[in-house]
Amino acid sequence: MHITPHGAAREVTGSCHRVETKKTRVLIDCGMFQGSAFSDARNFQPFGFEAKDVDAVLITHTHLDHVGRLPKLVHEGFNGPIFATKPTARLLRIILEDAYQIMEEQFESDYRPKLYEFEDLRKTIDLVRGVEYSRWKALGDIRFRFRDAGHIFGSSFVEIEETDGVRAVFSGDIGNVDTPILRPTAQIGTSDVVFVESTYGNRIHEDIETRSTIFLDAVKRTMKQKGVLLIPAFAIERTQALLYDLNHFFEHQKLPPIDVYLDSPMAIHVTEVMEEFPEYYDQAAAKLVMDGDNFFDFPSLHLTLTRSESKRINEVKPPKIIIAGSGMMNAGRIQHHLLRYLSKTSTTLFIVGYQASGTLGRRLYTGERHVRVLNEMIDVKANVITVGSFSAHGDQKKLLHWIGSAQTKPKRVYCVHGEDDACVALATAVSTELNIKADAPHHQETIEL
Ligand SMILES: [Zn+2]
Repeated sequence: MHITPHGAAREVTGSCHRVETKKTRVLIDCGMFQGSAFSDARNFQPFGFEAKDVDAVLITHTHLDHVGRLPKLVHEGFNGPIFATKPTARLLRIILEDAYQIMEEQFESDYRPKLYEFEDLRKTIDLVRGVEYSRWKALGDIRFRFRDAGHIFGSSFVEIEETDGVRAVFSGDIGNVDTPILRPTAQIGTSDVVFVESTYGNRIHEDIETRSTIFLDAVKRTMKQKGVLLIPAFAIERTQALLYDLNHFFEHQKLPPIDVYLDSPMAIHVTEVMEEFPEYYDQAAAKLVMDGDNFFDFPSLHLTLTRSESKRINEVKPPKIIIAGSGMMNAGRIQHHLLRYLSKTSTTLFIVGYQASGTLGRRLYTGERHVRVLNEMIDVKANVITVGSFSAHGDQKKLLHWIGSAQTKPKRVYCVHGEDDACVALATAVSTELNIKADAPHHQETIEL
């Protein structure tokens, strides 16, 4: 078996591993490079292999840095099946259509070239096949199965076995501990090598227990100040985790009713998909469903799909909570709310996810007090709070525990999907703490097993 990373080697984005055996060639993910103009340009470069020679693609989850180049692969001649868990298969269309719409808008406003056409997207969706977690599937001289990664809804890591040969595991992204609704990360079976993500390979998150306390305090303060709580939303998982927490606060009388606006069409659509798959919830969430409690809905929640509904939020007197896209604040409806409320001392901006450099979110996260929003300069007087334990990624402790609890001890670990420092730190920790040989491969470096 030969394995080559064609992205996300010593960097976070662009996940794409090519696996080649005597008879079979598959990709694990086909993601976009993201974060800067340089990354955008790299998406237009050749893959480094022939798209039409790939037999199948296995998708770990629907973040763009894992699926964003799929329609380009199809455009260049790939015509095989794209396998994913059933929720991932359903979410893929929403995510890719949203990405295409942004590309189209940028093409119309700034003549920025499009990576592929809508027709490629349509063909991509037709190739997707939903499969169950844990069920082995044969493909040429390999078999593979998806296991729950606990990262976002439907997310998985992939186990691949070559007939009479090597067994490899690809982590995709590994989730944080105790995330509402999601099941915990599954245990690795027997494996010879593990390719593990390293996003937070050099960090330890704050205590998960404090997460909902910080959130509850922020809501209470907003109510006392008769202000606005602005939450830039990541559409898959974190938005729903926030709704789950709010529902819990209201039902257990920790909060009096306060108007909550979910002002993100994509998050609303993703929530609808999650409601279709209650059999994928964790025990606590499944029990709530059995008891007839829909935790994605409570009396003071308002879904604002259309632009005019979104505008009407302005007319509602504070206190109020607004969850709106995009998560890094560089586009979308959140910008209109930032323009209106950032200059008020009664506003709290609640940051729940990674803010890439160059984004408006990063500037607010690092404490800038004068920022440009929709071409207007704003004096930031709002209270800005960041909560790392809302992250969808496991920290170093979680990653080591995941590798360490494999049914058989892997012989070798390769650390990918992290900045240089994070990959190397995780590889060092794997060798010293787990006594397994570990490396951080480079872009397009082929590993022979
Ligand atoms: Zn991810």
